Amino acid sequence: MLTITGATAIFIDSTTESSGDLTIEGDGTIDASGCVVTPGLVNAHHHLLQSAFRTLPGTRGVAMRDWLPTMAAAYARAGVDAELVSAAASVGVAEGLLSGVTTVADHHLTWPSGADTVAIATATADAARALGGRLVFVRGSARDDPQGAAASAEAIVQALLPSTIDGMLQLAVGPAGVHSDSRETFELLGEVAARYGLRRRTQSNEQVDTEIALEKYGKRPIDLLEEWGWLADDVTLAHLCDVTPAEITRLAAAGVSATHAPGCDLPMGWGIAPVAALVAAGIPVGLGTSGGGSNDAGHLLADARLAMQVAPLVGPPIPARHVLGMATEGSATGLGRSELGHLRPGSAADLCVWDVSGVADAGVADPIAGLLWANPGRRPKHVVVAGRVVVRDYRLVNADEHDLVDTLRRRLAR
Ligand SMILES: [Zn+2]
Repeated sequence: MLTITGATAIFIDSTTESSGDLTIEGDGTIDASGCVVTPGLVNAHHHLLQSAFRTLPGTRGVAMRDWLPTMAAAYARAGVDAELVSAAASVGVAEGLLSGVTTVADHHLTWPSGADTVAIATATADAARALGGRLVFVRGSARDDPQGAAASAEAIVQALLPSTIDGMLQLAVGPAGVHSDSRETFELLGEVAARYGLRRRTQSNEQVDTEIALEKYGKRPIDLLEEWGWLADDVTLAHLCDVTPAEITRLAAAGVSATHAPGCDLPMGWGIAPVAALVAAGIPVGLGTSGGGSNDAGHLLADARLAMQVAPLVGPPIPARHVLGMATEGSATGLGRSELGHLRPGSAADLCVWDVSGVADAGVADPIAGLLWANPGRRPKHVVVAGRVVVRDYRLVNADEHDLVDTLRRRLAR
């Protein structure tokens, strides 16, 4: 067993906490004196490829209709293949682990025509596994041919399903949204999900999504998702900025879960999802960063702080423990992973040890609330995934951080 000793506080879940010692699956001992222990964070919405394309000129302070072609041109220039995907995913997963993210959902949307899609998915899975992080690979689609997207999803499942057995990899499907993909894509990817018991994920109700849905179909996105069979309890919707009270009631009744991504939605000018109203309706809400093209950091705890800071602009304030619950168990619930996001007996033994003994945390009366309110940009001292230490003393155990950076830099320079 792995024993964590002397913790100042232990966040078991959003309603349970303790202090002192904790024993989980694994081996050895970690001294947590002066530290707060939390479950590993679960980033429910990322686009790992975009980690290679941050702060790209022409992508900041612009409308989505300008953002999309600028990103597409950058992908075309770089040539998206398994090698680039591997380098970008390695950087993204490593950044996540170094900031406490033990599980990341990669909604991969970029499939150049003729690309070996199984190789792209496999490269992402291998990158996460090599670093010791958990990955949810979402076979996305953004204006892909519907039949081609479904055939590729099927091939990816055939190739990778056997390696999901240990829980380090999960597969899911997800069109980018009703603004980009057709009813046929939603239905065909939904059929693949039903065949293999995969979760379904998409993006909904960013303003641009609502605008295009109204223009193209004369309907709002939630109406279309319902017609297309995508309002169900295996579906998670990211963003949900522009959602009405009546739509919130329908989402709750259908058992849909949500992912809040304020670190993307705010800079993109999409607004702030009414998270407190979603939670009050009984919708499980997780937290995601979205990708480097809109949110240049994959630091989920920083975005949890942002979520807490902006909440009072669109509803009641959300307490720190609830937001931390979103970044852990809320995200895991949307992924159908009841073993992740908490430290109750039977958890998957993913945790972070956060040193709160420095000046940036001095004078903090409530160390769990302080994790979010104080010391922005903090990183965990140690991170454990599946009982194995993957970050020790702020460094990756399974890779040299700078080698990952060099690999990506060299690939992009070619
Ligand atoms: Zn996104």
